[in-house]
Amino acid sequence: MAESVIIPGVPPAPDKVNLLDLDRSALEAFFVALGEKPFRATQVMKWIYHERVIDFATMTNLSKALRERLSACAEIRPPEVILDQHSRDGSRKWLIRMDSGNSIETVFIPEPDRGTLCISSQIGCPLDCSFCATARQGFNRNLTVAEIVGQVWQAARLLGDARNGHRVITNIVLMGMGEPLLNFANVVKATDLLQDDLGFGISKRRVTLSTAGVVPALYRLREVSEVSLAVSLHAPDDALRNELVPLNRTYPIRELLAACRHYIADKPHRRITWEYVLLDGVNDSEEQARDLAALIGNIPSKVNLIPFNPFPDARYRRSGPATIARFHAVLMAHGLTVVTRKTRGDDIAAACGQLAGQVRARGRRAARLAGIAG
Ligand code: SAH
Repeated sequence: MAESVIIPGVPPAPDKVNLLDLDRSALEAFFVALGEKPFRATQVMKWIYHERVIDFATMTNLSKALRERLSACAEIRPPEVILDQHSRDGSRKWLIRMDSGNSIETVFIPEPDRGTLCISSQIGCPLDCSFCATARQGFNRNLTVAEIVGQVWQAARLLGDARNGHRVITNIVLMGMGEPLLNFANVVKATDLLQDDLGFGISKRRVTLSTAGVVPALYRLREVSEVSLAVSLHAPDDALRNELVPLNRTYPIRELLAACRHYIADKPHRRITWEYVLLDGVNDSEEQARDLAALIGNIPSKVNLIPFNPFPDARYRRSGPATIARFHAVLMAHGLTVVTRKTRGDDIAAACGQLAGQVRARGRRAARLAGIAG
């Protein structure tokens, strides 16, 4: 494993608009407000997202006068990468500083047929799922649009992702820290930029939002976004799910499944990915596998079984390989598409549920209530 500290710090400029915060329509409005034509947004987006240029002086198809005006009122400032870790298996993990007290982690997982980038949507998380390391850190704040797309911008740069040549990042999942649907407006704008041809141009179906199930936000999401949906289910009944995912007490399984059905209704070829972390002796019996199959059997589905990834003081253990294989087989026998996730990046603690960073927690309970009410 190699570690290196990279990129010197860029001081923040609070009086300037960070153009990474603006999606295409907001950037057009920004230029119109400057008395410019909206197509300036196209030019600048190509520089930022295709050429990965963030210095106005280099944007030679803009007049010198406009470049100077931009430098005075705007900046393009991705968050800083402060640590770059390489796993023996090719995974990468970056620690990215968001402000003086907080940093988050972003992970890249290469596979033969794809490259998946796992990004975060919040600093910490207010949901308090009992098997997740992020929950231990509590919640600090939502990430801005610039901080969400900035993770992809930095990863693309460090991976040498080339838009017109070899594409290294083919898939993006919002499965890092945080609950994306509790940061709704910023997450929708950021995912729009990921899918926009003038942005990162990732194919619509290859941007996946993972949620613990904020039901009202799921109904709203369908109206404004075309991201694929992954839902962290983890239990086939409310009693157990209440324990593992406390959000279930607010939005129980029946309501969650109705929202999921609605999300993909009338959308051919779309399906829900169900995530199910396998916890030894807790949710991994054959009977629970049968109950799970019965629950989701009539929804177009794919099941991702995730062997539990331990962290210090975790109260669970990973299910044994034979138990995992049996659970997998029962679901398959019920006609479901099932993938048991391989654990990647073991040597750099880059697996699901192990993402940490440095979070300055604020009151967790207050944050949780505020987050859900909003
Ligand atoms: N809040 C969102 C996204 C973050 S969690 C959500 O709940 O979906 C991303 C995925 O990692 C979820 O499926 C989560 O259940 C899983 N996960 C969390 N902790 C884990 C652990 N210790 N081992 C394995 N998977 C874990």
